[in-house]
Amino acid sequence: MPARVAVPALHDAVQAKLREADQLYTSGRRELVEVLAGFDRPVTIYELLETRPKLTQSSVYRNLAGLVELEAVQKVVGADDRVRYEFAEDIIGHHHHLICTECGRVDDFRVPRSTERSLDTALQRAADAAGFAVAGHRLDAVGLCAACAA
Ligand SMILES: [Zn+2]
Ligand SMILES: [Zn+2]
Repeated sequence: MPARVAVPALHDAVQAKLREADQLYTSGRRELVEVLAGFDRPVTIYELLETRPKLTQSSVYRNLAGLVELEAVQKVVGADDRVRYEFAEDIIGHHHHLICTECGRVDDFRVPRSTERSLDTALQRAADAAGFAVAGHRLDAVGLCAACAA
């Protein structure tokens, strides 16, 4: 299970990024952060709109784009053409994604610290030949979610 960050802490983190960029935490952005906080996985704009039918697609797009630019929110690429959004890793912590190739669902997953270290070590060993200094990694597992595998 992904570690959930409490909503007030999410607001603080987003507000700090806005302040750094001399931007206001508008009610539209605040509401979007609250909607996004209700999910523990990357979601499409359609999923966001479904939970708050009063939001307009254009305002959600605009506010999402603003938060992506500030690096408070990041885009996640899945197995379909739909862009999904989640809070940036420096806000919700490092994690990985389980990507379903059948329905497109993307779930977060975390691995133990020791596994993270093994991954970094293995990647650095493989990257040594290219003279590449590994600073981090992105790792997705691709396959079938529980519902699609059943
Ligand atoms: Zn699925
Ligand atoms: Zn990792």
